[in-house]
Amino acid sequence: MNRPERERDRLRIAIQKSGRLGSPARDLLERLGLRFQESRDRLFCRGEIEPIDLLLVRDDDIPGLIAQGVCDLGVVGRNVLSEFAAALPAARERPPVEWQPLGFGGCRLSLAVPDELAYEGPASLDGQRIATSYPALLGDWLRARDVQADIVTLSGSVEIAPRLGQAELICDLVSSGATLHANQLREVEVILRSEAVLAAPPCELPGARSELARQLRARLLAAQGQRNSRLLMLNARRSQLAELLALLPDGEPPSVMALDGDGDDVAIKALCRDAVSWQQMERMKQAGASQLLVLPLEQMLP
Ligand code: ATP
Ligand code: ZN
Repeated sequence: MNRPERERDRLRIAIQKSGRLGSPARDLLERLGLRFQESRDRLFCRGEIEPIDLLLVRDDDIPGLIAQGVCDLGVVGRNVLSEFAAALPAARERPPVEWQPLGFGGCRLSLAVPDELAYEGPASLDGQRIATSYPALLGDWLRARDVQADIVTLSGSVEIAPRLGQAELICDLVSSGATLHANQLREVEVILRSEAVLAAPPCELPGARSELARQLRARLLAAQGQRNSRLLMLNARRSQLAELLALLPDGEPPSVMALDGDGDDVAIKALCRDAVSWQQMERMKQAGASQLLVLPLEQMLP
């Protein structure tokens, strides 16, 4: 039975179907403990553990899908989210917002000019044609600097526009700069620094989805803070405890539990903020530790 969309109680997250952000977005959600069934159409993946499903789409469609309420959250480049917001007529309802930067998909939206062209600041753009797939962001940037340039909107292959005579310069995404270099272009201005972000509607989600989204965000923040944390476990004699505790890497105060028997053997559990080195493990072993285990953290709720 199809219930009205408003009453949907499972959270739906849109991610890029393929491309640069698809796998890292999926990996991130799986690191938070979510699992999804593979679907035959590779468009919708039902969540197995939590009532959280995935919608696999083109990245450009994600802000619009959130705005329409077709999905609740999205993993998308700040560049795409900001362009969507900049392109919305001011009187329309508020666009989706950035909840959290995610630390992958880093790039910048930059102006680049052919190697042989001089560039002396924004004023030299007056009267020039600039090819881009980001007309709204570029338009805002030019207006803020009082520059009158022509924006040539292209949906792809922006970097070859100067050679094809469609524009004098371009405004495009750059990460390593290799594509610019291969096309004899040089970066002269950064318009926006971008990375993948978690995007959400500007107002609270209805019903159960609001709490699910809050939990997801909390898990994400916790995971970002604990990216390098490890759980260290080891056994030792109680008499060796003082020496061993002094050797433990930085982290939360460890728990010490008596093992069955004469009470002389203890198990130590310590949360470490960073990786535990081979040398640290050797030193602990020499100080009497046994059964040393270093485990990655999947989830933690302090
Ligand atoms: P789709 O078919 O989903 O529309 P696409 O070709 O638009 O795919 P990708 O090239 O995979 O998308 O880029 C997706 C996002 O990756 C960009 O919007 C941007 O946020 C980020 N990104 C990171 N580095 C770069 C780069 N060098 N060039 C383009 N995008 C980059
Ligand atoms: Zn795209």
